[in-house]
This record gives sequence, C-alpha cells and structure tokens, in this order.
Amino acid sequence: MSVTGASGSSVDFESNPPSYHPSFSAQDADIIFVSDDGVLFRVHKFVLQFGSGFFKGMMEMTRDPAEATANEPIRIQENSKVFAMLLDIIYPDREPPALESLEFANEVLQAAEKYEMRKATHSICLLVMSQQQKFLTQQPLEVYALASRYGWVEAAKFASTETLQFDLYSPNCSASLRRLDGDMSLRLFGLHARRRRALLKALNPEVVSIPGVEWANVIVLPTSCSKNHFYTASVRQGPWIILRDLVAQEMEVEPRGNAIRKRSFIDQEALLDMWRFTCAAADCRTIVFSKDRVHAELIRLLDLLPSSI
Ligand SMILES: [Zn+2]
Repeated sequence: MSVTGASGSSVDFESNPPSYHPSFSAQDADIIFVSDDGVLFRVHKFVLQFGSGFFKGMMEMTRDPAEATANEPIRIQENSKVFAMLLDIIYPDREPPALESLEFANEVLQAAEKYEMRKATHSICLLVMSQQQKFLTQQPLEVYALASRYGWVEAAKFASTETLQFDLYSPNCSASLRRLDGDMSLRLFGLHARRRRALLKALNPEVVSIPGVEWANVIVLPTSCSKNHFYTASVRQGPWIILRDLVAQEMEVEPRGNAIRKRSFIDQEALLDMWRFTCAAADCRTIVFSKDRVHAELIRLLDLLPSSI
C-alpha cells in the first residue's frame, strides 16, 4: 500500500536495504511505514488512530488480504526526519525535539495538515514561539508568514511586534513579504504606518491626540514670562519642527524606535539649537526645552504607540 499513490521514493531498496529508525523499531508495533529516504518505522496502530484523522480513516478500510498478511510497509512521501517528528509529537510518552529551522517546521506542518494531526500543528506552533528557539526575535517576518498561513492569531500578533525592528520597504524583507496573503500583508504594513503616524501626530502642536505630548513634561517653566513662553516661537517653528523631522526619519527606518530611545539621538548635532533656544520675552530669556525631559517624553510616547496587528 502506498499513501502517495505513485512511488515518490528516491531510494533504490534492492541495492540499499532499508533499516529501522532507532526510535521506532518496537517489535510489538504493528504498522510499518517506509519514508521517502528509505527508513522503516514500526508504529502502534492505536497511536495512529488517536493521533491522525487520516490514518484512522485508512485503518478502517479493509486492507488487501495479501498485503495485510505480508505486512508490507506503507510508503509515505515525507522524509524520515519529518515523519519521526510527527510521531514524536503524537506518541503520548515522547517529547518532540527542538526545531532545526523554520523551513523544517513548515515541512512538518504540511505533513501534519495532510495527515490531519491537529496536535502536531499545535505543538509546532508552541515550538516556533518558544523563547529557546529564538525564531520570533531572529526571523519574525518568517514566523509572521507561518502564523498567518496556519491561522495562529496570537502568534501572528507577537511576531508583528517583533517585525517593528525592520523597514518593510527594504529589499531584505521582500522575499518574506511575498509569502503573505494580501490581508495579512496589509495588516502588517498598516501597523508600521499607524505607529509612525501616531508618534508624529503626538508631536504635532496643532492637534490634540491620544497619545499626545504633554508640554509640561518638556518645557522648563520660567519664574515669570510676559509672553506665551514656548508655544509660538519654539514649537510652531524652529527647533520642534527639526525634532519631529528627525523622529519621522528614524521611524521610517525602524518603527520600533530603538534609535530614538538611545542617548545618541537626543545628543545629535542637529538638535543643538533646541537646547540653546531661549524665550523671546524681554522679561524671560530663559532656556525653553530640557534635553532630559524631551527625551523622557519621546520614550514615554513610544511606549504608548500601537505595537501589534
Ligand atoms: Zn518665556
């Protein structure tokens, strides 16, 4: 019997006799499989019946009597690593090993879908998302694509947050983005744009927004001032506009905003005039902006921005 129909095997069994997978060779296991790379697996029928809708259905069909007597191996299309992973998941007394790559996770997921192994799909999701595996922090776009494809809603949200370290328009991202369907792609681009827009809006003195800059947090208040101490001269023109432009540039490159959080952002030369800026009122003439407080306010606003789809 063959699961694949036509033989998809790439192994010449006559010159290269197959051997049993060391973890799946129990004599009391009653079903024998042979993987695409020629490895034999002895598997307990009841485990397959519980673990796989596909094999449960197959076991219920009457097997060809001659084939049943000879207990001929059932040929499967998957390689031995993928099949062993699936079995490690569905056997109740085993634990699946770590995933070697997201490509491998994808292969296992495709097989799990074909064999209707829901537990395997869930287990792979947990492995992909586990901290130890580091996929989420190192390949968030790929995790987002996988999560989108298999409908892992929470995982897609977590992955979307991690993608904020990238500029989605950079060529490095295009291969991963091509794998997304239109809706999930739009949602991801939407998050990146929303975050940037929300921060610029928060720093816009002309509009009231939530989150929005608290002017009292950034201004050094004078003891006396006969004019509108900071607003007209400093915020509507001049230094504040330069600050907003620099913020906009950083948010394009990295919407997470880590560059803005660094001291080097606020220390840059382009902002020197801001820290020297004094009030125009004759009775005041004091410094308007506090560097430390402006930086703290930027960080406070960054923490309030939308951070997941
Ligand atoms: Zn003043």
